[in-house]
Amino acid sequence: MILAILSFLVFAWFIAGYLGMSQNLRGASVFITLASILGALFLIPETNSFSIIMGGWAPWATISFIFCVTFFFRLFVSSLRNKSNEDYPDEVQEADEFSNHELERYSRHILLKELGGLGQRRIKDSSVLIIGAGGLGAPVIQYLAASGVGTIGIIDHDKVSLSNLQRQVIYPTKQVGEQKVFSAVDAIYRLNNNVNVRPYNRRLNSEIAEEIFSEYDVVVDGTDNFETRYISNSAAVITKKHLVSGALSQWEGQVSVFAPHKGGPCYACVFPSPPKDGLAVTCSEGGVFSPLPGVIGSVMAVETLKILSHSGNTLLGQMFIYDGLKGESRKIKINLNKKCPICSI
Ligand SMILES: [Zn+2]
Repeated sequence: MILAILSFLVFAWFIAGYLGMSQNLRGASVFITLASILGALFLIPETNSFSIIMGGWAPWATISFIFCVTFFFRLFVSSLRNKSNEDYPDEVQEADEFSNHELERYSRHILLKELGGLGQRRIKDSSVLIIGAGGLGAPVIQYLAASGVGTIGIIDHDKVSLSNLQRQVIYPTKQVGEQKVFSAVDAIYRLNNNVNVRPYNRRLNSEIAEEIFSEYDVVVDGTDNFETRYISNSAAVITKKHLVSGALSQWEGQVSVFAPHKGGPCYACVFPSPPKDGLAVTCSEGGVFSPLPGVIGSVMAVETLKILSHSGNTLLGQMFIYDGLKGESRKIKINLNKKCPICSI
């Protein structure tokens, strides 16, 4: 019986830890359980059947003593560690706010000195709106969800089609014909069910853009049409949100971060008008190489996570260009247009 109860307590300890219960709360629960057993064994006669089954009070007093010594020693060591880390309050205290599950799950992020516990905390407390759950949206969704972004909004009005599957890797064949946003929600929960997901099963338009954008920290534009890009850009400028923008065609793609409120250009500064009909080749017209959206979308996720965690330098004022056919990449400088009708007003 002693072994059975101890095994149960050990099992409950790890399950409660996995579910996010703090060590102190688990310690208090075990202490109350042991104290109750010990108290009962002291109060009832040794000849009582309960006392016989439990093996008497002596082994329980020993177990309780060992538990108390171990637990208070750990508390003491923990308080010493916190005291010695007072010079680095942000990193340590922020990291300590994670459950054990989160500490393990995001440990490889927390280990990065440029990101650390504070950066991961910022990622967790943040919200990102992704426009378009297509080729670019898919890797952005995957990496933001896996990285533990607190809230992810996705807006898309399309259905999953068979020709999407070659590059939009979050959709399984069985979901062909389903609305993309709801399939994307499934994909996020498969990766990380701690993410709060908000699906918008509709096309973005100028009436709703500002209101939706104002609810998020960063907006990611992975759309494939210029009308939506200009709507997103105007709304991002008005609501003062970073706009992480990506585009691709056949073998080549580009990424930039637009944020006039941070001194960089907006999308319209660089592309004042959409290309004339016939000059911009869409995926359905000219084709697209399967891994290309993965490369470009991953760079968009990199930029987004750096903005959220305040790490490194972003592509603000620069454009990253990747040519998959030649295996080349380059960066060009892009400037704010002081006469831009969107951001200079
Ligand atoms: Zn502008």
